[in-house]
Amino acid sequence: MTAETGRWIRNFVDGRFVDPDDGDGGGGGGARAGHRGFDATDPATGLVHARVHEADEALVDRAVTAARRALREGWADTAVRERTELLRRAADRIEERFEEFVAAEIADTGKPVTQARELDVARAVANFRAFADVVAAAGQESFLTDLAGGKRALNYAVRKPLGVVAVVVPWNLPLLLLTWKVAPALACGNAVVVKPSEETPGTAALLAEVLAEVGLPAGVYNVVHGFGGGSAGGYLTAHPGIDGVTFTGSSATGAQVMRTVAPRVRPVSFELGGKNAAVVFDDVDVDEAVTGLSRSVFANTGQVCLCTERVYVQRSVFDDIAGGLVERAGRLRLGDPLSEETTTGPLISHAHRDKVLGYFDLAEQAGATVLTGGQVPRLGADLDGGSWIEPTLWTGLTNADRVVREEIFGPVAALIPFDTEEEAIGLANDTDYGLAASVWTNDLRRGHRVAQAMNVGMAWVNTWFLRDLRSPFGGVGLSGLGREGGESSLHFYTEPTNVCVQL
Ligand code: NAD
Repeated sequence: MTAETGRWIRNFVDGRFVDPDDGDGGGGGGARAGHRGFDATDPATGLVHARVHEADEALVDRAVTAARRALREGWADTAVRERTELLRRAADRIEERFEEFVAAEIADTGKPVTQARELDVARAVANFRAFADVVAAAGQESFLTDLAGGKRALNYAVRKPLGVVAVVVPWNLPLLLLTWKVAPALACGNAVVVKPSEETPGTAALLAEVLAEVGLPAGVYNVVHGFGGGSAGGYLTAHPGIDGVTFTGSSATGAQVMRTVAPRVRPVSFELGGKNAAVVFDDVDVDEAVTGLSRSVFANTGQVCLCTERVYVQRSVFDDIAGGLVERAGRLRLGDPLSEETTTGPLISHAHRDKVLGYFDLAEQAGATVLTGGQVPRLGADLDGGSWIEPTLWTGLTNADRVVREEIFGPVAALIPFDTEEEAIGLANDTDYGLAASVWTNDLRRGHRVAQAMNVGMAWVNTWFLRDLRSPFGGVGLSGLGREGGESSLHFYTEPTNVCVQL
């Protein structure tokens, strides 16, 4: 049983891959001739590497129905030990098939092989292990309540699975973000219907093979491929049989999903966009700060929700930091994803590159100085068909410019000087988003003070994207709703029933 047949990447419903020949959209509900499908393109070359079978409404319905049945037939009541062992076996199996996941991640995204190995696939393994640990160690709330006349009552909460969870994820770190949600959902006894991004269908399908191999019951993990509204994403989030939606993606889509589920009042967990700031004080070790900052601006070609796009630098070190970042940008190696020398991949698609290039134009119109980049690179041979972009740094912009206000999601940052701590906090918090921030200083007290003053879900001091999976993750404002990670995930993926016993 494999995720791909020939060039088809298939849906996975009720414990089996659905053949594209099995009706139009696989659900038997389509009337169009031929298979509903779309091309999977390699962003590094622009070449089509597979065809993806698009689920129709009937197939999405089959997936939700299968998930419900799996819950009813026992999955929701499985012993915690059984579930956590299954998660650990899944982690082991991903490790055994590590290079297949690496290859699928690269085919989906064009990202460098070193990153796919060290971040994406390694984190998928870690996600399964971490949430097995969290669930195994979880307790439950209880209170002894004093009553009149010396009597007491015992209150305790029993946590039950949320039910059928719709998991809708984006393309930037597809396997990492998918497993970040699927692992806790399954650990808590839910069944999931996953809708991967249309740009990156490969790893979600491969994960279906692994979960079946380790013995996950049919219907507990389902994958439906397709787009948003009017396709699998829209059908899934509008389905009356889902009990909640966990979504990672853009703020605009999050708002749309919220509207879709509003009539049935389903819980949502939203991890949305960001326009993240770094604040760099003049007491830093410049080289160390530049090393951290360049990671935070350029990692994954700037396509991480946590990436820094606004760098506020105290005036006396502004030129040093700017010079250091330009030098680091010059060291990045764009190229063949399979080469271990490559540090930087392409953007996900030509459409996304057009969007990023639109911001290059806006920066120019706003009078920005381009310190480095600003062009589409020529890499030669096959790669010129890919969606490559130069890492780009600007000065001369202010918080009033759209380039500094809107999420670009590319390897770009605006460098802006400041004089005082108070001014820096004001500039960093002057945004509609509130996902992440980083503070760079050697003054311990200032580091804590400024990090706590950031109006964000995650603030780092002298580092970036350093995660302990037990800690809360999420954003405020346009950056999201709710938190996942550790106990926060348990809260979203379960519903408590409080039992009160008069003693
Ligand atoms: P997107 O919002 O376009 O798509 C995300 C997912 O939603 C995809 O699977 C898509 O098919 C689906 N979708 C689109 N419209 C839908 C609809 N109407 N109903 C249901 N599903 C729909 O986002 P993207 O371009 O794939 O990803 C990039 C965005 O994700 C950026 O804004 C980035 O900041 C954000 N992101 C946030 C986090 C976080 O943890 N906060 C992490 C990664 C990415």
